[in-house]
Amino acid sequence: MADIGEQFLNLDLPNEINKAIFDLGYERPTPIQQQALPHALNGEDIIGQAQTGTGKTAAFLISIFTYELENPPTEDRKPGTPFALIIAPTRELVIQIKKDADALAIYTDIKTLALVGGIDYEKQKNKLNRKVDLVIATPGRLLDFSRSGTIDLSRVEILVIDEADRMLSMGFIPDVKSIIAKTPHRRQRQTQLFSATYTTDIRRLASQWTLDPIKIDIAPEKIAVETVEQRAFLVAEDDKFQLLINVIEHYEMSRVLIFVNRRDTARELHGKITKDGFVCGLLAGDVPQRKRIRTLEKFRAGDTRILVATDVAGRGIHIDNISHVINYNLPEDPEDYVHRIGRTGRAGSEGISISLVCETDAFSLPGIEELLGNKLNCEQPPDKLLLPV
Ligand code: AMP
Repeated sequence: MADIGEQFLNLDLPNEINKAIFDLGYERPTPIQQQALPHALNGEDIIGQAQTGTGKTAAFLISIFTYELENPPTEDRKPGTPFALIIAPTRELVIQIKKDADALAIYTDIKTLALVGGIDYEKQKNKLNRKVDLVIATPGRLLDFSRSGTIDLSRVEILVIDEADRMLSMGFIPDVKSIIAKTPHRRQRQTQLFSATYTTDIRRLASQWTLDPIKIDIAPEKIAVETVEQRAFLVAEDDKFQLLINVIEHYEMSRVLIFVNRRDTARELHGKITKDGFVCGLLAGDVPQRKRIRTLEKFRAGDTRILVATDVAGRGIHIDNISHVINYNLPEDPEDYVHRIGRTGRAGSEGISISLVCETDAFSLPGIEELLGNKLNCEQPPDKLLLPV
């Protein structure tokens, strides 16, 4: 089988899962996967303090699918009777988890179903008349189906409560409690609870819902100020491209990842850089998966030294020796800034990030500076970096 990296192989996951992990291009488990999976696969309860972007979704999905593959359901399980249940606070999150689940379960027969409010009740109800293994749901809609007897939660063996703190702040806890009461006793099920923060309230809920849990604490991707030198150049929108090209040359960038905010910008920029005579890869969500993997491999091997990426596509990049990250636009979400610059300066090596800040980008600065806890020193680039070479 294709090589997915020793650390994943060491987890001894079923082949079907390893193949999907390979397709997704994951090379090694993220810290939360590394810490949670051995316990989760062992059936232990988990409390994970982890934010989005840490790979927590794949952590719980891999454990669910592995369990199902290793303990195939008995024939007598009726329609609408899932063995695993994931509760998440928002419709968007449910849909995202369902997408990740479909990708990870692609080589299995596992049936997953998303139940969310706001869309076709009847359609979702019909799907519950069939066999279903994993249900991913928002609390309100799930409770409706549970109360009407359309879904039977009494056979749930693995329960995941995702983003518990948001569930709390959105007032869903009474619903979640009613749902949990319909699942088997915590002695008879495995419970995994994830929350970005771990307040007294969450701790109290976690102690009611889990049994002898393993607590895993993944700090938000540590603001990489120690190993990443962050620079920012003020530049007019029209001069940006020239500055980019000059900066790549001037700093003799050996491996540079350029982030942009939108897919169309990614495509356009990739085209312009290529036209300027550079070998450049493109990593955006609308590029087919296979092609993305090949692009990444070339970049890793050093055949391509420039890669243009969007945030979503860039999340999966775990390459150790990226020398520079360039923010061609500043991201609207400050967390994305931290993710982006965290692609360099990895594994203790030095990295440099350069942000090209035009008037539009300036709106994103305050949020980023607040998250970083310090100001970004915005400089005027030297004239020679603005002139055509
Ligand atoms: P999450 O924290 O679950 O929202 O995941 C954040 C992103 O990381 C998603 O885009 C996943 O596809 C990606 N991801 C999850 N696990 C890995 C991994 N082991 N290697 C690379 N990317 C991953």
